Amino acid sequence: MTTDNSGDVRLSGIGKTYGAFTAVHPLDLTVPQGSFFALLGASGCGKTTTLRMIAGLEEPTSGTVHLGDQDVTHLPPYKRPVNTVFQSYALFPHLDIFENVAFGLRRRGIKSVKKQVEDMLDLVQLGEQARKKPHQLSGGQQQRVAVARALINHPKVLLLDEPLGALDLKLRRQMQLELKRIQTEVGITFIHVTHDQEEAMTMADTVAVMNGGRVEQLGAPTDLYENPRTTFVANFLGTSNLIEAEVDTRSDEDIVLKAAGDKLVLPAARCSAPAPAGGKVLVGIRPEKIALAHADDAGSIPEGRNRLTGKIADASFIGVSTQYVIDSPACAELSVYVQNVERDARLVPGADVVLHWSPAHTFGLDAAQA
Ligand code: ATP
Repeated sequence: MTTDNSGDVRLSGIGKTYGAFTAVHPLDLTVPQGSFFALLGASGCGKTTTLRMIAGLEEPTSGTVHLGDQDVTHLPPYKRPVNTVFQSYALFPHLDIFENVAFGLRRRGIKSVKKQVEDMLDLVQLGEQARKKPHQLSGGQQQRVAVARALINHPKVLLLDEPLGALDLKLRRQMQLELKRIQTEVGITFIHVTHDQEEAMTMADTVAVMNGGRVEQLGAPTDLYENPRTTFVANFLGTSNLIEAEVDTRSDEDIVLKAAGDKLVLPAARCSAPAPAGGKVLVGIRPEKIALAHADDAGSIPEGRNRLTGKIADASFIGVSTQYVIDSPACAELSVYVQNVERDARLVPGADVVLHWSPAHTFGLDAAQA
């Protein structure tokens, strides 16, 4: 991996409007050299526009783009040390794979391309396919050719715009791991646009969740998943249970809340809402962090756990785990995922249960956002 900073991407106040419509509100973002960064969000949130401003394919309305120490805001795309891979592979159909990859070198007038192209084809594991035409390859292989072609001129930054969007689910999963491996091997900055939360979480070191032209939250995948700061992020990254509760008391460490007849404890550091005494907070907990006890066993739940009483409304066996839907006086339709090795045969629809979990896995959101 290189140690210079020429692959740092720094966006300062970068924004884009189309007439009266704001596609990207001015945003600041730094992507460190060598990282795998994902822009994640639903269709229309501004992620492609942001990527295109880094590539130079879109002129920003405000702000600057720096690559390392260089201000590239007004440089045309071909003068930036950046290349882009699109969902449509856009390979040259009449050229074989070798010549598709060699294209960027030949255009720069480089004569002896053999070693570089062969090394690049080895990197993407297509050394055997060099003399085939694009239509003779699978979609995943064609996408790897597109990546090889984009990397051949040693860009400092590779931009990937929904590159796996055209592939079926199984191939997508394989290619996610493959792209991650390639990025680790070449060590340059990858910025990947996707609407698929699982894809972003699998591949990226850092994810920016975008919503309505703004970065709503930025962080490592586990951090975003375990400590979302808005209801949008909580719901976009997997299933979350959000329980409206009232602040009873609070100290510097803990917020104690009332949810129907139950009491819940939330670490103050994990609450992004103001949470004054008497105020409302949405208490969040992921389904797999909750354990389920039959009501008859409530006495054996360890001290210090958050608890809610409820009744099983539905149970679906899905191989390794069972997904329960629980109605509780505090909140209807809570989701709980229990590994089947721990399954209790009494936990069937209609059974009275106690949901319990560690306060450390609880997060708090502003109820006014919901
Ligand atoms: P998708 O995944 O569907 O491409 P996205 O998050 O990448 O979505 P953008 O393509 O960045 O979204 O578009 C953001 C918003 O800007 C959208 O509402 C889009 O309609 C609008 N937009 C994009 N390009 C233009 C344009 N040239 N003129 C007017 N509006 C545009």
